[in-house]
Amino acid sequence: MWSTMQDHPLTITAIMRYGTRICGEAEVATFTGDGMRRTSYAELGRRAARLANALRRLGVDADQRVATFQWNNTEHLEAYLAVPSMGAVLHTLNIRLAADQLVYIADHAEDDVVIVDDTLVPLLATILPRMKTVRHVLVTGEADLTPLEPAGKELHSYEALLAAEPDTFDWPELDERQAAAMCYTSGTTGNPKGVVYSHRTAYLHSMAACTGNGFGLRAADRVLPVVPMFHANAWGLPYAALMAGASLLMPDRFLQAEHLVRIIEDERPTISGAVPTIWNEVLRYAQENESDLSSLRLVPCGGSAVPESLFRAFDDLGVRIVQAWGMTETSPLASVAHPPPACPDPWRYRVTQGRIVSGLEVRVVGDGDTVLPADGASVGEIEIRGAWITGSYYRDEDPSKFHDGWLRTGDVGTVSPDGYLVLTDRAKDVIKSGGEWISSVELENLLMGHPDVVEAAVIGVPDPKWQERPLASVVLREGATTSAADLRAYLADRVPRWQVPERWSFIAAVPKTSVGKFSKRTLRRLYAEGALEVVETK
Ligand code: ADP
Repeated sequence: MWSTMQDHPLTITAIMRYGTRICGEAEVATFTGDGMRRTSYAELGRRAARLANALRRLGVDADQRVATFQWNNTEHLEAYLAVPSMGAVLHTLNIRLAADQLVYIADHAEDDVVIVDDTLVPLLATILPRMKTVRHVLVTGEADLTPLEPAGKELHSYEALLAAEPDTFDWPELDERQAAAMCYTSGTTGNPKGVVYSHRTAYLHSMAACTGNGFGLRAADRVLPVVPMFHANAWGLPYAALMAGASLLMPDRFLQAEHLVRIIEDERPTISGAVPTIWNEVLRYAQENESDLSSLRLVPCGGSAVPESLFRAFDDLGVRIVQAWGMTETSPLASVAHPPPACPDPWRYRVTQGRIVSGLEVRVVGDGDTVLPADGASVGEIEIRGAWITGSYYRDEDPSKFHDGWLRTGDVGTVSPDGYLVLTDRAKDVIKSGGEWISSVELENLLMGHPDVVEAAVIGVPDPKWQERPLASVVLREGATTSAADLRAYLADRVPRWQVPERWSFIAAVPKTSVGKFSKRTLRRLYAEGALEVVETK
């Protein structure tokens, strides 16, 4: 028999309505480098309506892709609400990708309109002429549009367009399964692939973020998404904030530690999400300047493994980092490392990639696609399925990424009987030495626990005897004189001797990807080209 319950579509429109009507007193505040410019959620709703009217007037009347080329700011949030709610598809472009990749992505998604921040006009100008499908460009702020003129697109001032439109819009009834937004993977390990989120998956994902086992967002929270809105939708924090009626603090282009700390001290956010490299910089700045980060009750951190030293240093500042794991393909929130209640050894759980969130399932798969036990010991590729996991890529047949309805994550690790994941590596980064596996992530985390090490990235390099051996690229604290031999001795106390790298490279900074992760691809290339100065010690 069927239920008696109403079949009400789960849509971003519903999230927007709740946030902007019921919680109209909450605000989105964007940092200007000097102070904050503030917009109430009630006003945000009116501006989203103006934007929808403007886009409709430009011919966006179906599932056209409206791309954003923006920092985390109020206008980007307006697009997040207006575009999907009017039935079009929001496409967040990663402003840090290489020009060729951006052009490829915009063409592949067939972007029709681009909304660009005034501060990003010079960057967009370099690629706009090659973006074939784009018809209209909306420029926020007070930018000079001249650099965009040679591209031959129709150029508009965002504010002038909005000012000319009414502040209500007849939001259509949408099917919850229709496309709402799309995001391309950042291509850390290959060409970008498009993932298309539906209204339903965005809604369910936001609910998961709002649960206590997720990030527990509520109206009293002030949320600072440092993770870009073009990187897996800022981990879903913007929609979750609207759903919870929590205020949003947007850093715009001011992502240096000094600015972030100022926003934290002045605006007192309670939640802030960013990748470990950002928190590492914030930590050093806060320690040097005795900054007050105590307003933060929860700091979701992920995108790459969080070194234990980072948790401990933030604990000392009274700030709780919680590790989370996910990927563009998983919306992205998939697991969060809250330890189980009354657990005698919370550290055992805090350093994991987290416990799978309700609504999703994970499993470990070994050679020949055999499903291995979730016993916390069997190591294999992690596969995932569930209510907000992609089932394919957009216009890109890649059956090798899927397996019997599960997504192959490309991450290698274990799952414990109580659903905690421990990742040892990405499949492509695992180091195979003489037939045994060495976890690059484990070596990196241990090295970054050394008091003189600021950053450490470990890659596998060819070795005549063992096929592959680890090479550690290390950034030392300024003035430190620690040697490769010292670091070898330090590791030898912590991992089996055969895992300790013989090859060391001391560098000024680890190269980063467009979303701030260690770029092992770049390191491998530099090594292959002989551009890394390597010392060998045994
Ligand atoms: P890209 O694949 O281009 O880096 P994503 O942002 O989608 O783009 O990255 C997802 C990947 O990031 C995961 O598959 C995983 O390898 C890594 N990752 C995310 N969170 C964590 C974490 N907490 N610990 C280790 N790796 C993580």
